[in-house]
Amino acid sequence: MKKKMVAGNWKMNTDFQEAEDLLYSIEDLLADKGPDTNVVICTPYPFLELATDRSSETELFAVGAQNVSSFEDGAYTGEVSARMLDSIGVSYCIIGHSERRKYFKEDNATLAQKVKMALKYDMAPIFCVGEVLEEREANRHFDVIRQQIEESLFDLDDGDFENVIIAYEPVWAIGTGKTATPEQAEEVHAFIRSLVREKYGDDMAEKLYILYGGSCNAKNAADLFAQLDVDGGLIGGASLKAEDFVSICVQASK
Ligand code: PEP
Repeated sequence: MKKKMVAGNWKMNTDFQEAEDLLYSIEDLLADKGPDTNVVICTPYPFLELATDRSSETELFAVGAQNVSSFEDGAYTGEVSARMLDSIGVSYCIIGHSERRKYFKEDNATLAQKVKMALKYDMAPIFCVGEVLEEREANRHFDVIRQQIEESLFDLDDGDFENVIIAYEPVWAIGTGKTATPEQAEEVHAFIRSLVREKYGDDMAEKLYILYGGSCNAKNAADLFAQLDVDGGLIGGASLKAEDFVSICVQASK
């Protein structure tokens, strides 16, 4: 069985001092508990270099961004490029989070560009997919997820796709305290793996990391991680509390 992965998404939270304190607390707890888990911390842009400095010193976690530009370089005021992130040691990037799809109108075609940029600069995209409540209630969630994956990822060749991580995040479960049941998560994760199997074959499907995200916390993580196709979690709110986050990392290593 492959080692699980737990990625923390801090979203737009913390100032510099809070970020530093949180990183140090997470580090101390990880060093103490020593979970056998791939840990990724996705901080806001201004704190990424602080995080990559700590991560190269301690090797306890890797660092991810929460977004990247779909453009490579140049006159795109306010954008942050994949090359910039790569140059400060960022090795993962969340792409297609539902908050970016909703508030910043990022569509599948733009997200496909972002995925390509991340891969070009050696970052592993953590590509988020998931349905809104009405889509689930109309039993359209499988179609929505299929379309998100086909339109943003299935242009990639094998060499690129093998670096992609997919996070299933039902939108109705994000930040709401309403978690998918382990069975609901497993059903969608197995579906995602079957899509990848059809397109890229058995080996790729087995190697693929599929993370669950959506109100995953220290209390429900173990049940979710016990599912066959759940390879770890993408954690929002609970990643801002060092003890909860590291507890989730520990549960992932069991
Ligand atoms: C997320 O934003 O990726 C997420 C899963 O958030 P939360 O854990 O707070 O639901």
